[in-house]
Amino acid sequence: MKPELVIASNNKGKIFEIHNMLEGMKLLSLHDIGFTQDIPEPFHTFSENAYAKATAVHRFCGKNVFADDSGICATALNGLPGVDSAHFCGSRDDERNLTKLVNALRNQNDKSAWYYAVICLIWEGETHYFEGRCDGHIIAEKRGHGGFGYDPVFVPEGYNHTFGELPLSIKNLISHRAKAVAGMVEFLKDKIG
Ligand code: IMP
Repeated sequence: MKPELVIASNNKGKIFEIHNMLEGMKLLSLHDIGFTQDIPEPFHTFSENAYAKATAVHRFCGKNVFADDSGICATALNGLPGVDSAHFCGSRDDERNLTKLVNALRNQNDKSAWYYAVICLIWEGETHYFEGRCDGHIIAEKRGHGGFGYDPVFVPEGYNHTFGELPLSIKNLISHRAKAVAGMVEFLKDKIG
């Protein structure tokens, strides 16, 4: 039987991506464990928010759990929206968040940005962190319907297409989340059947 691991997220886009990367585990969603509370993310760093989410869910179910906190950071905006990526426009609205970012960069020469993800894993009561980064730039018009969030305007370094256009198989090789998950998989290697 595959070992269970709870993912402390309700973001369908994220869960779908991570599901594809963790085949050796039985991944349980918050829905599966009956966790219905909203988990606050009040901190100014990705790792503190990931820790807050992972510990809240661990306290609730006592199972092995991981939380990812991620976002997009624009160089010309000194790293914004960063930890506020999910609520950049004031609410959790992907379309308006993306429009706000594109508008904020419209008159900037430097369109470079990076996605960043931190995973906080609580495994057998001990806390471990894994991180990943994916560099690229922001374009002015949306292209493609794949991915989620800012993907239709993010072109990863070395490619001419956005994450909205590239197949998930490519995103799952080079994304910030893929790199953080790869670190966690490496750690869990001998525990995964
Ligand atoms: P979190 O649930 O606080 O980690 O929110 C992360 C937010 O960052 C998402 O709601 C998106 O706006 C953005 N984000 C993080 N990773 C990605 C990605 O892979 N594609 C597009 N947007 C992302």
